[in-house]
Amino acid sequence: MDWNDSEEQVIFRAQVREVIETKLPERYRRSSGAEEGAGSWQSDRISKDPEARKAATDWANALAERGWIAPHWPKEYGGAGLTPMEQFVFKQEMAQAQAPGVGGMGVSLLGPTLIVHGTEAQRAEHLPRILSGEVAWAEGYSEPGAGSDLASLQTRAIKDGDDYVINGQKIWTSGAHTADWLFALVRTDPEAPKHRGISFLMMDIHTPGLNVRPLINMAWEHGFNETFFEDVRVPAKNLVGDENRGWYVGASLLDFERSNIAGAIENRRILTDLIAYATSEDGRGQSRLSQSDSLRHEVAEAYVQTEVLFNFSFRIISMQNRGLIPNYEASTSKLFNSELVQRSARLGTKVFGLYGNLWDRHDPRAPMGAQFTRRYVTSIPSTIAAGSSEIQRNIIATRGLGLPRG
Ligand SMILES: Cc1cc2nc3c(=O)[nH]c(=O)nc-3n(C[C@H](O)[C@H](O)[C@H](O)COP(=O)(O)OP(=O)(O)OC[C@H]3O[C@@H](n4cnc5c(N)ncnc54)[C@H](O)[C@@H]3O)c2cc1C
Repeated sequence: MDWNDSEEQVIFRAQVREVIETKLPERYRRSSGAEEGAGSWQSDRISKDPEARKAATDWANALAERGWIAPHWPKEYGGAGLTPMEQFVFKQEMAQAQAPGVGGMGVSLLGPTLIVHGTEAQRAEHLPRILSGEVAWAEGYSEPGAGSDLASLQTRAIKDGDDYVINGQKIWTSGAHTADWLFALVRTDPEAPKHRGISFLMMDIHTPGLNVRPLINMAWEHGFNETFFEDVRVPAKNLVGDENRGWYVGASLLDFERSNIAGAIENRRILTDLIAYATSEDGRGQSRLSQSDSLRHEVAEAYVQTEVLFNFSFRIISMQNRGLIPNYEASTSKLFNSELVQRSARLGTKVFGLYGNLWDRHDPRAPMGAQFTRRYVTSIPSTIAAGSSEIQRNIIATRGLGLPRG
């Protein structure tokens, strides 16, 4: 396969670059000294800081004008209807510039689900508000007793007149504290086999009885939450698909970005920055690279693995381009990417020895704003979220290699 851009792709890439160059707010430009980790569109949108709010709105408007909040949605629903290859180019350029995506789970998960399973009324109510960046969504799937084995979920919804009444608990609800609406899987028939008694419901996150409580992660950040339901009344019109068929609705919530190209670009950038700093005049004194053959070998190994990840991405996009749906191939790329992110973080802290323990990004002694120390901690969940490494290996073993199930 020829990986050089076609003539159309050259033109499209230039358009994306131009928008990023001219419209990306200063707040999100790393070159302007923006802090690592700063600038999440979803939290900026409701920030108390008017500048952060303005940046989020300006960026959403710039993307919305071109349908680029939802590049993969069909044009008839307000997306850009980009081909898989154009989506790939778009993602590449966004990742290269570290420009934040807009629309979060509304764009990646809920919108595509409503397009396939929703009613006309549901699409008319929710899609425009996702596309304008007005409403952000969170995902309520996992429960304390149901993660990898999601079909064991127990949060109960009972039909009562025109409503469902929900009681139970979700956990690890990312961004629920900055979201406006929640989509959730709930149990509507406890007697049925476990996959067949589940329904998919949408609800305003501020509905009485619905409480979102923070979970602070080991990097002392508030990213996810516990979500409690106490007699939460949700109009039955917010059921997506048929009652008790929610498992199949939920299972089709595919993130269309399965190539992990953003992960490959991020890994390449991390490694390039690490090498540049560790060999620079400023960084040489803190770096152990000149003292250790094995460390230099690890850097070389990280380079090889980053290039392998690029090839996984290319394989997936070439499948999508041919109309195929990646399956165990997406698991391979997810597994490899999430483990590489952790290895790169460990490598960075090793290169800086004891300096690699400094946590405060403003400490002048902390190499590269302590980013590797932070990555060391923040990369740990990457092998759990969106399907743990063990689950990915199960998929590769059974669906990919045809091995028998245990
Ligand atoms: C950063 C982050 C964000 C998240 N955001 C959300 C969100 O927004 N909404 C949401 O609903 N959920 C979210 N989750 C939850 C996530 O989907 C679950 O953590 C994940 O599915 C694993 O479930 P669990 O934590 O219950 O672990 P468990 O399923 O209990 O797994 C525990 C361990 O057992 C292993 N294991 C389990 N089953 C098998 C098996 N069959 N074979 C081999 N090993 C197995 C696992 O790999 C793991 O090591 C998030 C998680 C993280 C870390």
